[in-house]
Amino acid sequence: MATKKQMAKPTSLTTSKTIKLTKSNYYSHDTDFQYMSFSVFRNFEQCEAATLAKLKGDWEPISDPKALLIGNYVHSYFESEQAHADFISANHKAMMTNPNKKEPDGHLRAEYKIADKMIKALSEDDFFNYVYAPGDKEVIVTGELFGHQWKGKIDSLCLDRGYFCDLKTVDDFHKGHWNPELRQRTNFVEDRGYHMQMAIYQELIKQTFGIDCQPYIFGVSKQVPPDKIAISFDGDGKFLMQEALEQISNEQDHFWRVLMGEEPPKTCGKCEYCRQGKQLAGFTEVSSIEIS
Ligand SMILES: [Zn+2]
Repeated sequence: MATKKQMAKPTSLTTSKTIKLTKSNYYSHDTDFQYMSFSVFRNFEQCEAATLAKLKGDWEPISDPKALLIGNYVHSYFESEQAHADFISANHKAMMTNPNKKEPDGHLRAEYKIADKMIKALSEDDFFNYVYAPGDKEVIVTGELFGHQWKGKIDSLCLDRGYFCDLKTVDDFHKGHWNPELRQRTNFVEDRGYHMQMAIYQELIKQTFGIDCQPYIFGVSKQVPPDKIAISFDGDGKFLMQEALEQISNEQDHFWRVLMGEEPPKTCGKCEYCRQGKQLAGFTEVSSIEIS
């Protein structure tokens, strides 16, 4: 009888092996084989082979993690004093310049000085403080999208006021980004698929807490002085979010089969992973060269 109690009956969505998500295992690759996330989905869209190799721990990109660290530094400040202190103690070496005779401890790198200005710009803003500050921070949500399990982490969730916020650090809000499919330039939200992220989070919050929440993005730029923006998805944004969910429903079955080893991953042929050991297979016609 005891064994029966320990073994929860597997359902189509959860098996007895499903890992419960916590703050400490949320980013572990083991959970990525059980829950799809916005970032993994986006990576799969860019290159299936590189994403699978990364999740399996077979390959690690050597690209500069600086931009990610700056974003996490700003995030941690608005999460809690403790989170910010923990970030600084864990990344102290990366934040400081190399020591020399004049400065045996080095000094704070220029990008972190800008990051401090970004923090100041937001923390001195009344609208930001009114909307972003009161929410619960880094809330883990899970749910099912079109037959598969998903996970998400909400930067700031205000269930009682019916909205959630995501904080983005961006080079310049007004820079255009070429979209080869639409053959036109798009803004940073569409370029980075943030409307898809908002659509996923809205659905996962609804399934976790039973409350329909409005999505908002707060952006702060890395310019000096930093620019700020608060973005809603009331008009065209709603349409973009709906389209993004349809995209997920069309594409994810294949990504899951790749994850489970049931289908081979496609190579993009252009990324850091695909370029290593690349062999030419013949000529490319001049008009067929892809541009991004
Ligand atoms: Zn690739």
